Amino acid sequence: AIAADLNSPPIGTVQTIAEALEVLKEVDAEQPGDGWLIGFGYDDTMLKEMRHFTSAELDSVSTTRPILAMHISAHMAVVNSLALERFNITAETPAPPGGEIRKDPETGKPTGLLLETASRPVQLAALHMPPLQQIAVVRSAAEIYAAQGFTTVENGLATLEQIKGMSGASKLGLIPQRLVLWPKDELGLEAAEGTIDLQQYGSDRVYIGATKLVGDGSIQGYTGFLSKPYYKPGEHPADYRGYPNIDADTLKAQVKAIHCAGQQVAVHENGDAGIDLFLDAWEAALEACPAHDARPILIHAQMSRPDQLERMKKLGVTPSFFSAHVYYWGDRHRDLFLGPERAAAMNPAASAVALGIRFTTHLDTPIVPIDSMLQLWTPVARETSSGKSLGPEERISVERALRAMTSDAAWQLGLEDRIGSIEPGKQADLVILSANPLEHDGDLRSIEIERTLVGGVMIYEKPD
Ligand SMILES: [Zn+2]
Repeated sequence: AIAADLNSPPIGTVQTIAEALEVLKEVDAEQPGDGWLIGFGYDDTMLKEMRHFTSAELDSVSTTRPILAMHISAHMAVVNSLALERFNITAETPAPPGGEIRKDPETGKPTGLLLETASRPVQLAALHMPPLQQIAVVRSAAEIYAAQGFTTVENGLATLEQIKGMSGASKLGLIPQRLVLWPKDELGLEAAEGTIDLQQYGSDRVYIGATKLVGDGSIQGYTGFLSKPYYKPGEHPADYRGYPNIDADTLKAQVKAIHCAGQQVAVHENGDAGIDLFLDAWEAALEACPAHDARPILIHAQMSRPDQLERMKKLGVTPSFFSAHVYYWGDRHRDLFLGPERAAAMNPAASAVALGIRFTTHLDTPIVPIDSMLQLWTPVARETSSGKSLGPEERISVERALRAMTSDAAWQLGLEDRIGSIEPGKQADLVILSANPLEHDGDLRSIEIERTLVGGVMIYEKPD
């Protein structure tokens, strides 16, 4: 596969569909062939046309190689006609549970847009790489992470092939950081049933962690599952609220199976209706198999309501907030997806602090670029990319934001006895910054990474 960057500002430069198609054409011309052409990071509500591409538009780039344009959320993608053909997606194809195959209301033909569970098999096929290419990609990502001060890196939805490949690359010394690998849904469920042993791929550098389920979609893709309708629903009906990827009963059964097998649970929920489904499922799992420190992780947790935070506290749930959304999508959450009130209350880190809930933050790369100081800064500043303040009452202190990326992150993963703080007996994973964030007057984003050490060994030093 070859890749093209379709991001819009502030990440990239694409602002219209014509510009995006031009980028794809250039990459196709530079690297001709019949393998997949993947466009990353397009954001329909950042394009002047305010819509997704169509397969006909992608056909104007090529009809002889399959093309996949992946939405910035990674929860949906548009493919060209050749790719539709290869996957046998026609006017008659029914949508899988928890997904959509968008069809033209007049002709009934697929438009090329595949959402949630309908997009996943196509994305996996397009992104599939031979082992050597995988190693090259992982190596270059590890370098970027090291330059950003990350000592432990994570794959939050790992296939068996990725677990084997990354574990092997780590053993060969090709990945300098510690790795946390979260087996994806079916794989983790197989491990829970005991039909596969994933721990054999673990080592002192590779930690096989929570099983990850994807309970709902993306708010900026209109698939996050909300209890109240989207603010400006775009092409959807006025009462549109998104939808769950996994129905309530299946989610209950899966969460219970994972938890009762003694594995940590991690569930992706952006919308508050999705969060309700997860909390119900977790409560039932806990009843079936009582445990007192299981640390189920709620991934994104963006629209957590105050009553849900209280329930999380009671049930021992630990959220990982996607705080960088305030910067990248905050203006559009306020004006388009959620409206001013809900946008101001998203990623409610200060409310979590007030209740004594331990939480982390994340960047969800490739959704947003790898930028540790931006990750630190967003929950502290709650400023959007246009420079506006969004929900200042949910601002947290620098110290809390640091803990969410260090000691509380280690705790959430169950690795607090090894990493996450500087103490005798821990593994000396360290980052040296150009200034002390706790005493820094200026913009936290101006702090530079000077050195990164893993296990006391320097893996990055800033060039002079
Ligand atoms: Zn997501």
